[in-house]
Amino acid sequence: MKVIDIIQQSGKTVFSFELLPPLKGQMADKLYRTIDELIEFNPQYINITTHRDEVELRELPGGLLEKKTVRKRPGTVAIAAAIQHAYKIPVIPHVVCGGFTCEETENMLLDLNFLGIKNVLALRGDGLKSQSTFVPEAEGHAHAKDLVTQIVNLKQGKYLDPEMKNNAPLDFCIGVAGYPEKHFEASNMDIDLLHLKEKVDAGADYIVTQMFFDNQKYYDFVDRCRAMGITVPIIPGIKPLALMNQITVLPKLFSIDIPEAFAREIRKCKSNDQARAVGTEWAIEQSRDLIAHKVPCLHIYTYGISDNTRQIAKAVI
Ligand code: FAD
Repeated sequence: MKVIDIIQQSGKTVFSFELLPPLKGQMADKLYRTIDELIEFNPQYINITTHRDEVELRELPGGLLEKKTVRKRPGTVAIAAAIQHAYKIPVIPHVVCGGFTCEETENMLLDLNFLGIKNVLALRGDGLKSQSTFVPEAEGHAHAKDLVTQIVNLKQGKYLDPEMKNNAPLDFCIGVAGYPEKHFEASNMDIDLLHLKEKVDAGADYIVTQMFFDNQKYYDFVDRCRAMGITVPIIPGIKPLALMNQITVLPKLFSIDIPEAFAREIRKCKSNDQARAVGTEWAIEQSRDLIAHKVPCLHIYTYGISDNTRQIAKAVI
């Protein structure tokens, strides 16, 4: 089933969560344990992230450095299909522009179609750590909007090779990312919202937000989107804070604010266990308030940890 249909057919806020594929060299059992622990809360779909190649410097004997390209978390397509098959829940693999040519993306989308996957989250991805800005592949997309356009073309049977005729259309529901506190590269919120609208106008069916810890930022974001004519559902992304140092790490990584009242409570904590309890309670309060505001879905960023997501689901679902 498509996310847009799930949201439109459900009369109430649904629950979904996001997982990372296992690190290369590890099995998927931890991932399945996480799902097993959350399944009783009737998640309506599960997202699986995608991770591009990274370049690492490795020291050779003699002290020389060698550049090595590694993909630390391969396997999104296979894991997505395996989970969808095992749990009969729609799985939403993330498709990123960074590190992939348009042709590789087309082939990935074909694989997803063969595997019965009908949903994707279309993203640009971040630049390599060694690059100051995002650099697209020579034959790749520079912005998520272009990826959305490619997927919409495939929905109409338009493949990259103009010589190909009578092609089967690929049917996908498309989600895109939105940033209540602005994407870190955008010079201001107005321009970021214009780019978000371009993604929706290109054919995105819904938006999922970056994490936020102050619901008012999400409500203001939704109001601004509506005011400029973005009418698709906007799904809030919730991250239960789990470690003391995340009050400084998360703002740096995701360009978001931690409200002072929350940061103050975390600073009082003497251990990560205490911080985790405070972070979970904050996420529960956020979720209750979002549900009271009739959001279409609560999307929880689990990062593979189920206990706090379980507590949130138990409290509010
Ligand atoms: P875009 O929509 O392309 O926007 C990126 C920047 O470019 C913005 O500042 C925007 O304003 C600007 N822009 C857009 N169009 C134009 C234009 N035409 N001209 C000039 N500027 C433009 N990353 C991963 O690598 N893997 C994942 O699985 C993943 N999952 C995510 C899930 C969610 C819900 C979210 C919110 C983010 C996720 N990310 C993931 C991170 C995401 O890839 C980064 O935030 C990335 O930097 C931007 O992606 P985007 O799709 O929003 O890009």
